[in-house]
Amino acid sequence: FALPCLPSPTNPKEAKQIRILEQITSKFHLTDAHLMHIEKRMLDEVNRGLGKATNRTANVKSFVTYVHEIPSGRESGQYLALDLGGTNFRVILVELEAGSRSVKMKACKHEVSQKLMLGPGEDLFDFMTGCLVEFMKDHDLHGRKYHLGFTFSFPTRQRQLDRAELTHWTKGYKNAGVEGQDVVTLLKRSINKRPELDIQVEAILNDTTGCLLACAYKRPECAIGIILGTGTNASYVEDMNHVELYEGPRPRGCKSVVINTEWGAFGNTGSLDIIRTRYDHDMDSNSLNPGKQVYEKLISGMYLGELTRYILVHAIELGILFDGEAQTLLSVPGGFPTKYISEIEADPTRSTFTNIKQVMLELDISVATDFDLQVVRYICECVSTRAAYLAGAGVASLINKVARRRVTVGMDGSLYKFHPHLDRRMRSATRRLVSDCIQFEMVLSEDGSGRGAALAAAVAEKQRKKFID
Ligand code: BGC
Ligand code: MG
Repeated sequence: FALPCLPSPTNPKEAKQIRILEQITSKFHLTDAHLMHIEKRMLDEVNRGLGKATNRTANVKSFVTYVHEIPSGRESGQYLALDLGGTNFRVILVELEAGSRSVKMKACKHEVSQKLMLGPGEDLFDFMTGCLVEFMKDHDLHGRKYHLGFTFSFPTRQRQLDRAELTHWTKGYKNAGVEGQDVVTLLKRSINKRPELDIQVEAILNDTTGCLLACAYKRPECAIGIILGTGTNASYVEDMNHVELYEGPRPRGCKSVVINTEWGAFGNTGSLDIIRTRYDHDMDSNSLNPGKQVYEKLISGMYLGELTRYILVHAIELGILFDGEAQTLLSVPGGFPTKYISEIEADPTRSTFTNIKQVMLELDISVATDFDLQVVRYICECVSTRAAYLAGAGVASLINKVARRRVTVGMDGSLYKFHPHLDRRMRSATRRLVSDCIQFEMVLSEDGSGRGAALAAAVAEKQRKKFID
């Protein structure tokens, strides 16, 4: 695997600094052996999640989504979708047209404030309902009944397509009174407070499932959906025979079902400890959910910038960066957002400092020498390369698991879309870990949370008719 290149020293002082830099970042370089091990462990964990006897103690829960139908392209009509994800909430109107396999969408995005993410659950649901009411007013939709799909990007244990209990919040959320509850019931309760709404909640789904569905709508060979955004996760199509925890009647003739792996929890009981660094541990202890979402914290957008910040601060303390001068903005949590990594690595050559200088400006750092800039970039590359290879290993496990001759992987998420090299690095890791006889492709499947939710709502009806009593 290609590793980031250390800056080249121009004098003995820099040579010494580089040796220290090399030491503090050495653990970020994963070997073939590490990645092969991780690919196997992930597969193991997904299988443990699927098994009745092992699910309770498994980190990766492999939740059944009750989505059986991959959209056929014959879906039609107007649907509403709600999308609660990492940083934003969206209301979306989706128009499906039979046979066209393209969709029309209108959406409205709202930032979810810190206060809403951490306050009472009821406030969060009322906020969503309020946005829905406003959206319907703006688009003149009141006065008729709408079917709705709810993309809820958190781990839930589903019992049916429209019933999902939140197991625990992840990312930046910690609303009281929601964990352990059926999220659809909470949404309906909030909707019922607004007499002007006539909404039928058809389906609740994870964003990875939405991504998979939206991708499969265009490419039927899609069997995996991955999100690399604020958080990370994967869904894939599993053979019904392997799903021991399916509850209730099995729809007639359905051979497969989508599994929401919740792979972000991989490593929660120590299986990734061999690769975790002191920075990973420090960041984890200061997070909203210490000890949880270990794999996610190595990979996703909510954490990569913060992790980089921990290393930068240590490098300053060691005197190898900014002449040892503490930098105010860098010393506050969240002071180095992940988008900086993407921007810095987008400078086209090692001696171009356009974006990185802009970042320094935003951070109010005026002391940076060219050498400092190279050090900062190197640290970003260490963090993001490790993330890409780890994600690549995870994808490889699922491709090997699905084991079709050809498989398409639908990809989405802010980190995936905006990081300039993540996709390439990830593919290279995946290719080395996937059996030679499997052909795979990774494609951007944008806005699965909207299109996917509408498709899920549309197939919900069709699916309902297939149930055996
Ligand atoms: C959540 C997943 C979600 C992923 C990406 C994770 O924190 O647990 O449910 O799919 O983030 O949004
Ligand atoms: Mg999202």
